Amino acid sequence: MILLKKPEHLRSFLEKKRAEGLNIGLVPTMGALHPGHLSLLEKAKKENDIAVCSIFVNPTQFNDSDDFKKYPVTIEQDIYLLETGGCDLLFMPSVNGIYPDGTENLRHYAIGHLETILEGKYRPGHFQGVCQVVHRLLEIIFPDKLYLGQKDYQQCMVIKKLIELTGLNEKTGCIICPTLREHDGLAMSSRNLRLNEEERNKAVLISRALKFIKDNLQRGNIMQIKNDAMKMLYQNSFKIDYVEVADAGTLQEVENWDGKQKLIALAAAFINKVRLIDNMIIN
Ligand code: AMP
Repeated sequence: MILLKKPEHLRSFLEKKRAEGLNIGLVPTMGALHPGHLSLLEKAKKENDIAVCSIFVNPTQFNDSDDFKKYPVTIEQDIYLLETGGCDLLFMPSVNGIYPDGTENLRHYAIGHLETILEGKYRPGHFQGVCQVVHRLLEIIFPDKLYLGQKDYQQCMVIKKLIELTGLNEKTGCIICPTLREHDGLAMSSRNLRLNEEERNKAVLISRALKFIKDNLQRGNIMQIKNDAMKMLYQNSFKIDYVEVADAGTLQEVENWDGKQKLIALAAAFINKVRLIDNMIIN
C-alpha cells in the first residue's frame, strides 16, 4: 500500500494511472476503522483497478468541538487494517492540504431540505462540512466510483446531491453499501470506541427500537409506534434527538402510511456524551 499525504502528489500519481486506463474507487473515512469501513474497501477493490482510502477527520463537519476533540484516532491499526485489507493507496492529508485557504470562507452548497431535517436539524452546518471535504476529495482524486455506507443514509443523499450540483455526476457514481452490525445488532461505528461496557450494552437498544418499528409498522397513523420506540430509549436514559419514520426517497416525515410508500426508520440519540445514529429500511 502506498501512503500519500500531499494532494498534489496524489493527483499526479492518479493522473498517470488514469492515463493507463485504470479506474479508481474511493472510500472516504475519518479513520478509527472497523469492519464496516473494510466492507466498503472490499467492494471498491472488487469493482476497480485501484482502491483508494482516505483518512481525514474533517474539522468543518463537527458542530460540537468536544465531539471533534474526542473523535477516536487509531492510525497505526488503521494502516495495518488497510494494508491487510488490500487497499492500494491511503491518502492522509493535513487540514492545510484540504483547506489551503483556511476554513473560514468555504463554499456554501444548496442542498435544500436535507440541510434542515434530521441530522441537519440537530447538527447545524454538519452537511456543509461534509460537502466541503467530499468536494475537495473528489477534485483531487476524480474517482470513477465513490463508496458510502447506508449507516449514514442522509449523508449518502447529501453527497449524491453534491455530485449533481458540481456536475461531477458525469464522472463519479455512488455505491451505497449495507450497514455492518455487531452480533447483537448494534451498527458498527467509530464512536462505539468511546462507550464503556455498560454504555455499549445499552447502545444496542437503538437498533432494537428501529427493528421494533420495522417489525410492527402497520398501515395508517404511525405516531403510536414511533412513541413506543422512543419509550424504549427514554426508559434507558438515552437523550433522543429523533426517532423518525420517513419516505426512503426524500426523507420527508411520514405520519400516515398507505402500506406501499417506501419507508425508512431513523434514529439519533446520546448515551451520556456519545451520540449514535442508525437507520433501517422498512419495506
Ligand atoms: P466515517 O469514518 O464514520 O465517516 O465513515 C466512513 C464511511 O464508512 C461512510 O461512508 C460511512 O457511512 C461508512 N460506514 C460507517 N459505519 C459503517 C457500517 N457500520 N457499515 C457500513 N459502512 C459504514
